[in-house]
Amino acid sequence: MSFLKVENLSKHYGGQRRLADWVTGNKPFTVRAVNNVSLTVEKGEILGLIGESGCGKSTLGRAILRLHEPTSGRAIFDGTDLSTLDAPALKAMRRRMQIIFQDPYASLNPRRTVAEIVGLPLQLHGIASGEEARAITAKIIERVGLKPNQMDRYPHQFSGGQRQRIGIARALVSNPEFIVCDEPVSALDVSIQAQIIALLQELKQEMGLTYLFISHDISVIGYLSDKVAVMYLGEIVEMGPVDAVLARPRHPYTQSLMSAVPDIDNPGKGARVRLTGDLPSPVLPPSGCKFHTRCPLAIDICRRTAPVTETVGPGHQAACHRLAEGIDISQTGAA
Ligand code: SF4
Repeated sequence: MSFLKVENLSKHYGGQRRLADWVTGNKPFTVRAVNNVSLTVEKGEILGLIGESGCGKSTLGRAILRLHEPTSGRAIFDGTDLSTLDAPALKAMRRRMQIIFQDPYASLNPRRTVAEIVGLPLQLHGIASGEEARAITAKIIERVGLKPNQMDRYPHQFSGGQRQRIGIARALVSNPEFIVCDEPVSALDVSIQAQIIALLQELKQEMGLTYLFISHDISVIGYLSDKVAVMYLGEIVEMGPVDAVLARPRHPYTQSLMSAVPDIDNPGKGARVRLTGDLPSPVLPPSGCKFHTRCPLAIDICRRTAPVTETVGPGHQAACHRLAEGIDISQTGAA
């Protein structure tokens, strides 16, 4: 049994007719942010979730934790179907499942001290209060690299990297087992990114944590992850062990992401693939394969029929009509 199993999870927004739609005669629209996503994460593993901004990665992370209520499907955490939990049971489960947010500026309450921000989960989950809570808070603050004598300061008195350390301390103070790391380094300077990534790795080892690590940077995902899932317009298009997926990406979208990564050991690797156009709107997604409007390999069937997910290696799956041809678009000059 997997530690986390996500089955056919979807999150759609809108779809209901608002008063303004009745007045204007407009039809309500539905944003299909996440569609039928299935994946597993084993205990102690890091699953890297990669894709462009707006592809639904963060929505998926939040839907797994039920911070955003899924439209359909379910997430099973350590044998418990989260979709069946009522509010008190979900609150109790949240002690074991936490999130680190992307923006270390917007995610901290500017009117609370660090001690109040980091200590809040202890109170919410009834773990500790008063001096005991303050002692636990001081310990975790020190562990993430801040000084306990900074506990009574406010978030604006810290740098971006320090604020992200505060966010990490808040996520860890309740001693969770699973963390959704929602682009935790993308708002930080490159030098600070390395420090935060190293800290997250150390904490994972020390505390036996399991991560869903969300990023748009395939180098970060490749460095950190055990497995990788590639997301395009709300769907997983390729997933597998990180070594297998990055060494031989099978989906044209993954190939385009990989072609942008410089390879010092292999300077003669294939050409960089530059996708044309923007990510299509999740309100009106393309028919057939959702990637066909930007795929250099698209053929007729791609515009009509969505490809099914196929196994292409041990634990490695991809969804593309042209998998059997074994094409790598960075080698073909197709882009
Ligand atoms: Fe490209 Fe067609 Fe494969 Fe989609 S199914 S990724 S459009 S070749």
